[in-house]
Amino acid sequence: MTLFEKIVARQIPADIVYEDDLVLAFRDINPQAPVHILLVPKRAIPRIGDAASSDQSTLGHLLAKAPEIARRAGVGDTGYRLVINNGRDGGETVPHLHCHILGGRPLSWPPG
Ligand code: AMP
Repeated sequence: MTLFEKIVARQIPADIVYEDDLVLAFRDINPQAPVHILLVPKRAIPRIGDAASSDQSTLGHLLAKAPEIARRAGVGDTGYRLVINNGRDGGETVPHLHCHILGGRPLSWPPG
């Protein structure tokens, strides 16, 4: 079971901000911005590079929900960034696909 599956199963506590049948969103334990939320599919896909065509509807749902969650977190108007890290050089540390929702301060580009 992945760390995030344990959060989905309520085996590990998390500050959950949104849930439906397919996805769960909770605050990152080590926030990099005033708003830092992780949005995950409940059924683990290791990473975006491993997603199958059968995952398309879940992935579409996840991305479609991100703006709603950002709005609920208060950054809908000020702006936010969605980030999906894939693999070693992408900075992935938890092998359960997750979309970071970051906002609440100006974010620099490009990433370091
Ligand atoms: P990534 O580096 O893209 O794989 O992102 C993993 C994220 O998970 C990091 O931003 C961590 O701070 C976050 N994280 C790790 N453990 C927890 C946890 N128990 N609850 C919430 N966020 C976590």
